[in-house]
Amino acid sequence: MAPSWGPEDGGPDPNPTAPQGAVDADLVLINTCSVRQTAENRAWGRIDHFAARKRDLAGQGRRLAIVVTGCMAERMKREIKERQGAVDYVVGTFQKQAFGLVLDAVEQGRELGEVEESPAFVFAKSYYEPGAFRSFVPIMHGCDNYCSYCIVPYLRGHEVSRDPADILEEIDRLEDQGVRELTLLGQNVNSYRWVGGGGAKLDFPGLLRLVSEHLRGRKAGGIRWIRFLTSHPKDLSEDVIRVIAEDPLYCRHVHLCVQSGSDRVLAAMNRKYSRRDYLDLVGRMKTAISGLSLSTDILVGFPGETDEDLELTLDLMREVGFSYSFMYHFNPRSGTPAADMALRIADKVKRERLARVIALQKQMSVELMASRIGATAEVLIESVSRRKTTELLGRTHRDEMVVFPAAAARVGEFATVRLRSLKGNTFVAEEL
Ligand code: SF4
Repeated sequence: MAPSWGPEDGGPDPNPTAPQGAVDADLVLINTCSVRQTAENRAWGRIDHFAARKRDLAGQGRRLAIVVTGCMAERMKREIKERQGAVDYVVGTFQKQAFGLVLDAVEQGRELGEVEESPAFVFAKSYYEPGAFRSFVPIMHGCDNYCSYCIVPYLRGHEVSRDPADILEEIDRLEDQGVRELTLLGQNVNSYRWVGGGGAKLDFPGLLRLVSEHLRGRKAGGIRWIRFLTSHPKDLSEDVIRVIAEDPLYCRHVHLCVQSGSDRVLAAMNRKYSRRDYLDLVGRMKTAISGLSLSTDILVGFPGETDEDLELTLDLMREVGFSYSFMYHFNPRSGTPAADMALRIADKVKRERLARVIALQKQMSVELMASRIGATAEVLIESVSRRKTTELLGRTHRDEMVVFPAAAARVGEFATVRLRSLKGNTFVAEEL
């Protein structure tokens, strides 16, 4: 048995141990993320936990192989084994073809030796989790944007777009397995650009249309909603706006990372758009796409950020009216230009600024949700509520959580509901 964890991000790992299942495992796969230091800290917690477990098992005459993969494995390679000698195999993101070799080596209890790096990123065949009604479909990998605070381009390399035939094949498989909602995934989906053997080109709006036509042609009717993540404001074209406006397969929710409302800070972040560019884009999207909801990422406390810059960010948030935001404060990531920037903001000030951003977002989210009471909405039912087994949890195409009474057998179906009231960040609804 080979349990796997990660990648994930967040604060210190509350539980570096693992779910039941690791107890009997003879191979543990630790899938790491390196985007933030906290994610690496968590991974180290797990690596050290399993190193101790491996020593215990060795005392009982049993073996445990520890395999570390993902971004941190790609970034640190040899360093991981130097720091924790109990790790058996380190498999970087460009060595995924080596998993078969790793399993053979574990089974035969021998060293793996050097594994060659693949010259190009290889997309996994499927990310499907059995039983899931929603699934992710990677369409590209890597990033060429080099935002000054971000380590992703150094870890994952240049943008690589996935063969559309491969994407459609995976989508067919997912639809046949009962998936109802897809999210097309990439660091910057809007810069998807496939160049085929004969020179044929396909850009992101072209891919959206291709996927939509393909699903309609299949007539299976299983997948009814498609989302995409993440959108960089400098690359979201008028053509993409047109597709969302005209094609009901595409959900009317876009996660459009802004990071800051100050031109000075945006330039220092190397985001390649201005506050005006962002607001103009949002204006065009809202005009073209009725019922659109927008969410974003906000990064406060960037080196040199002043109180006035923060006010500009708060002001932009109010002007756009994000339904939710992922908010965080700057932490230097070694190897990025921002890590060496002067005018660092004191931790206390960063925390205060973050608290102001979070407070505003909370207030806006509640106001926006309150304005939706009484509206009808279609939801994809995702699960039975953990609090009340007679209620089901679903999500609207605007990415709003909804709870309403219905039978558990309905999970995986679509339902039309009326939004009646609010409970925290969730709508309480009744089925129509
Ligand atoms: S676009 Fe996103 S992934 Fe790419 S460098 Fe900027 S923050 Fe990182």
